[in-house]
Amino acid sequence: MAAMYVDSHCHLTFEGLRERIDDVRAAMAAADVGRALVICTTLEEFDTVHGLALRFDNFWATAGVHPDNEGVREPSVEDLVLRAELPRVVAIGETGLDYYRLGERSLEDMRWQRERFRVHIRAARACAKPLVIHTRSASIDTMAILREEGGHVAGGVFHCFTETAEVARAALDLGFFISFSGILTFRNADDLREVARFVPLDRLLIETDSPYLAPAPHRGKVNQPAYVPWVAKQVAELKQLSQAAVAQATSANFDRLFRPYT
Ligand SMILES: [Zn+2]
Ligand SMILES: [Zn+2]
Repeated sequence: MAAMYVDSHCHLTFEGLRERIDDVRAAMAAADVGRALVICTTLEEFDTVHGLALRFDNFWATAGVHPDNEGVREPSVEDLVLRAELPRVVAIGETGLDYYRLGERSLEDMRWQRERFRVHIRAARACAKPLVIHTRSASIDTMAILREEGGHVAGGVFHCFTETAEVARAALDLGFFISFSGILTFRNADDLREVARFVPLDRLLIETDSPYLAPAPHRGKVNQPAYVPWVAKQVAELKQLSQAAVAQATSANFDRLFRPYT
């Protein structure tokens, strides 16, 4: 049997994918992508995300509110725990901090984002599910809050990693996994490739973050889980392993972190 891949982070409820889910699934099967984790970004969206995981036995779901989403329902710990305990929900997130689009705002103005992140960590600890963490231009505060809230007790993954080796080291030291997206294949991503070389294979996940960030050679297209082998190919080249070995290791890591069959 061919090695099977897992896409550890995709947004199948977003436009470009949700309206053609059968095609997306057929393409996955053709590319040996056996499973995917469908990520929730608002409470309003949760039922649709969860519905996909209930309908298809190779999809799982998360429960969380993305740090970039404003003007949406603010989750309480209880809101998140209630959803995380439903069948086929395996993680809390995506959550974290994103200071990339500050615009006119100061870091002080982003207090709500830090509070929301704390709520997610408390929920993850309360229900003993791992965190799916998004951090962009905010790694110092992300690490500080994780430490203050005991985020390592829940564990989790830093998804779509684009930070430095130093941040990767700190995340690994806290026991977190690191997930790489199609960005790893971009021509200008030499620094990130160095980071990926350094992350141990037994702590590494792969993802598409589709519909965004399609890997080379599909860059610019609508991304989909079927493209995750291109990320594996890049990891394999960096670590001088076969693509099958990367598929196998990252799938085993996915099972260890998310425990999808328990
Ligand atoms: Zn994200
Ligand atoms: Zn995402």
